[in-house]
Amino acid sequence: MGIPVIGVAPLWDDSRGSLWMLPGYMAGIMNAGGLPVVLPLTSDEVVVRQICLEVDGLLFTGGQDVSPGLYGEETNALCGPLCGARDEMEALLFAEAVINMGKPAFGICRGLQFFNAALGGTLYQDLPSQFSGAEPIRHKQEQPMGEPSHSVTLEAGSPLGKFIGSVSIEVNSSHHQAIHKLSPELAPMAIAADGLVEAAYMPKKRFLWGVQWHPECSLQDESSQKLFAAFVSAC
Ligand code: MN
Repeated sequence: MGIPVIGVAPLWDDSRGSLWMLPGYMAGIMNAGGLPVVLPLTSDEVVVRQICLEVDGLLFTGGQDVSPGLYGEETNALCGPLCGARDEMEALLFAEAVINMGKPAFGICRGLQFFNAALGGTLYQDLPSQFSGAEPIRHKQEQPMGEPSHSVTLEAGSPLGKFIGSVSIEVNSSHHQAIHKLSPELAPMAIAADGLVEAAYMPKKRFLWGVQWHPECSLQDESSQKLFAAFVSAC
């Protein structure tokens, strides 16, 4: 057994017409003993299938809002910028690698939202105007992303609760969308004080975890290190 190879969904910068990558995603995987490989942005089914065969796991990164068409809604005026090419590629990756092949996958921010949409759940297209929880929380923080801005309560019986081993953790928060209706295929792993599901997993799969926060921006935190460690060891 060599080092597990983890395909990383590429980020897309619309203004430059360019792929890019945040070093934290790469470092998080490497620090945990994995070999991250940034994938090309393609929806060629033959290429995507080959990618799925080559990798031991997939990281679904943050990025643009998920296209509402994926969960059967019209795009409303306050939905953020979309990236159709990522939606298309990630739908193929998800169906082939995760659903058909059962390979481990970890979703961060958009990644969690994408998993939920792909499995029949829905999203808030614009969290600030569509959601008000019992306890108001800022989900778009102003301080640096290395610093936490709200806490989440870990579900004691969930894999994340067991793995982290504490009642709650402090997390950063920079999301415009969030899970509205949780997919029936997913179960919650962490919940914010306002009631939003901030982490979920798919009980039928060996490792399909998603988190709404950004562990790649807070690699100094033990909980972030543990998340990447859990993912890479599953790969
Ligand atoms: Mn949040």
